[in-house]
Amino acid sequence: MTDPIEEQPGGIIQRYRTRLPVPVGARLIHINEGATPLVHLPFMSDVSRNIRVYAKCEGLNPTGSFKDRGMTVAMTMAVHENSRAVICASTGNTSASAAAYAARAGVMAFVVIPDGKIALGKLAQAMMHGAKVIQIDGDFDAAMEMVKRIPEEADVTLVNSVNPYRLHGQKTAAFEIIDQLGRAPDYHFLPVGNAGNISAYWMGYGEYADSGLSDTKPRMIGCQAAGAAPFISGHPIEEPETIATAIRIGNPQSWELAQAAVDESRGCFKSSTDNEILKSQKSLADRSGIFCEPASAVSVAGLQVDMTGGRIPDDSLVVCTLTGHGLKDPNVAIQQSPDPFRLSDRSGELRSFILDAIG
Ligand SMILES: *Cc1c(COP(=O)(O)O)cnc(C)c1O
Repeated sequence: MTDPIEEQPGGIIQRYRTRLPVPVGARLIHINEGATPLVHLPFMSDVSRNIRVYAKCEGLNPTGSFKDRGMTVAMTMAVHENSRAVICASTGNTSASAAAYAARAGVMAFVVIPDGKIALGKLAQAMMHGAKVIQIDGDFDAAMEMVKRIPEEADVTLVNSVNPYRLHGQKTAAFEIIDQLGRAPDYHFLPVGNAGNISAYWMGYGEYADSGLSDTKPRMIGCQAAGAAPFISGHPIEEPETIATAIRIGNPQSWELAQAAVDESRGCFKSSTDNEILKSQKSLADRSGIFCEPASAVSVAGLQVDMTGGRIPDDSLVVCTLTGHGLKDPNVAIQQSPDPFRLSDRSGELRSFILDAIG
């Protein structure tokens, strides 16, 4: 008997089946991820110079970040290979995604996270989905070094982006963008932490171009936080620090692939300060209605500098990936916003507050 849930259409594996290394007959572990909106950003665009800017809103995936695209493929393959447990190091979103897809698959998930530096929403997700959460006294890079050794010692599948199936899943975001725009963008700005995602997008753009589905490929612009910018330094850095915890990484695991993506596309790496990142996060929220987490806003912060500096040519089509949802990190959002206006229960006071505010 077929399971009607499993037969439900959706999910990137079903839609891009022929472009993914998932064998026929494999049980698909999916939660209808992908097919995220590409939203026009008028406040970043420039009508007079015909520069159009779009946001690929990856926060609208099932667990609120792009990690689900990779996780559906990694988890499907882990189950296909009879793995009964998965493990990852995480700044938060990988653990949320691994926990959810493991729950779906009925396998155990171990998630190793840095002590204290994980956004509240992400921790809540890992816990609710029933993962075994392990906090270490160290940062993401230390967690990564620990978990990498485990698959040699125990029958557990590593689902960080060094798992090649992750990148195959994540490359589908590039397919979707070309499908949505009818062509590849000229520039693609995206946040870079462990550097898997920029590598995955470049793979996706390359595959569509090779298949004749796109005539061009974008310049890849890798955006880092100034306090965690190993690609700007040219070497891994100790003690990365940024408010954008999802990209608080000093020793990216996909260094060579990401460097190749930038070099081959004639793009570049750039960095933004935490202040610039927060400003972009706020602009996206209060000028465009899109609430992304701080790490996601680094792509728009990077573009902002290039727009102001006149470095984006006329008639350009630009995409910024917004990697995760703003609700992931409520603390940072509340800290940068004014306190609510306190009102005693007299309606006269409310009326004058409103009349003052609307001028
Ligand atoms: C994982 C993550 C990143 C960084 O992606 P990499 O593939 O590690 O470079 C950026 N933003 C968010 C919200 C993430 O969860």
